[in-house]
This record gives sequence, structure tokens and C-alpha cells, in this order.
Amino acid sequence: MNEQARIPRATAKRLPIYYRYLTFLEDAGTTRISSAELAEATKFDAATIRRDFSYFGALGKRGYGYDVKALLSFFAKVLDQNSLINVALIGVGNLGQALLNFNFHQSSNMRIAAAFDINEHRGKILSGVPIYDMSELEEQIKAQRINIAILTVPQEAAQEITDTLVAAGVKGIMNFTPLRVSVPDGVRVQNVDLTNELQTLVYFIQNYASITTGK
Ligand code: ATP
Repeated sequence: MNEQARIPRATAKRLPIYYRYLTFLEDAGTTRISSAELAEATKFDAATIRRDFSYFGALGKRGYGYDVKALLSFFAKVLDQNSLINVALIGVGNLGQALLNFNFHQSSNMRIAAAFDINEHRGKILSGVPIYDMSELEEQIKAQRINIAILTVPQEAAQEITDTLVAAGVKGIMNFTPLRVSVPDGVRVQNVDLTNELQTLVYFIQNYASITTGK
């Protein structure tokens, strides 16, 4: 979409919020909305909303407001083409499946677009996400221009898969394995250790009960 180049960053950041609220309105059967009502719901002021919408051409009519369906299909196109971030998930075990189920699409502009595993569920679609064989990893990552991956494999497999991901062009890895994987400069790893988080909480509860209760 060429006109995207003219949309200011601040406006682009508000798009997912408009989109989410409009989806909610559509589900509730609302067909049109004024900028004042949108302002009330999104907490952006009405002038900001009108200015944002003016970047997309004449979407509203004076005295009529905005057509919810038209806005939704317009925003869906802009978001899909420009800022929806596709993420890969490697390892469709218990944790992997929970994340597939959770997905991130509803609450943000990120979603798991493809998942990979050596044996579980290959060729199936789980929670709307296709599961590919590991042999297709590089090809799919390149084809779908994915540059972020979530690792939920056993730790023995983590480094080798990380190397493959990096070779395929992945720039960010959310690592749920306990292994501290090595990556070259320019690739970022975010380690998520749920056991550790829970243990920290237990430690605080046991040792600093008065602090955690705020007394
Ligand atoms: P978790 O709760 O950590 O997901 P789990 O018991 O469900 O644990 P794991 O043994 O940790 O399963 O494996 C997670 C997933 O990773 C499994 O679906 C497994 O098939 C997959 N897996 C294992 N080795 C590899 C590998 N080398 N490449 C890709 N996927 C793998």
C-alpha cells in the first residue's frame, strides 16, 4: 500500500487500537460510529482521531460518522500488509501448544504464523496455525519473511535450531529453554524461564512476606 509511506508513526501505532475496538463494535452489531464515540472508547481525543483517519482518505461523512465495516476492512488491509508481525514457533510440545492457543493476535499486531516440530502434529493445523516439519524451517521462514522465533524445544536441540534460525535470517529469539544459546552480533535473545520466575516469587513470599503484602 503506497499511501502507508505518508502515515505518521504515531498514527500507525494507534491503528491496532482502533482495529481492536472496531472489531468489538462489529461483534456487537454496531454499524457506524462518530469520532466522539471513538474518542470516548479509545481515550484518544476526537481531533487526533479525525486527523488520523484523514490520512486514509475520505472514510467518514459529516453528520454520519464512520462506517464500522468499511473502517475495519481498510484497517485490516493496512495492518496485514504493513505491521502485522509474523512469528515462528519451534517445538509443539505442552508449552508450544499453550502458546499457539494463546497466540498474540488479539491483543497486538503479532501472531504465530507457522510452527515446526520433528514429530508432533506435523501437517496439522493447531489453533489456526500450520505445523510444518523441521525440514521446511528455512524455506518457510524465508518465504514468510519471519524474523522472530519462539523456542519451545528440549534444551538439547536449542543450539542447533538457533543456528538454523539465524542462518535463515531470524533476528530475534524468545528462548523458553534453559540453555543460554549463542548467537552472532545483531541477533537478540530474550530468555524466558518460567520456573525461575515462579521460584523468585516463592522466595519473596517466604522471605519478605511483609514487603509483598505492602505493609
Ligand atoms: P514442554 O512442556 O517443554 O513443551 P514436552 O514434554 O511437551 O515439554 P519436550 O520434550 O520439551 O515436550 O519437546 C517439546 C517439543 O519439541 C515436542 O513436540 C518435540 O517433538 C519437539 N522437538 C524435540 N526435538 C526437536 C527438534 N530437534 N526439532 C524440533 N522439534 C523438536
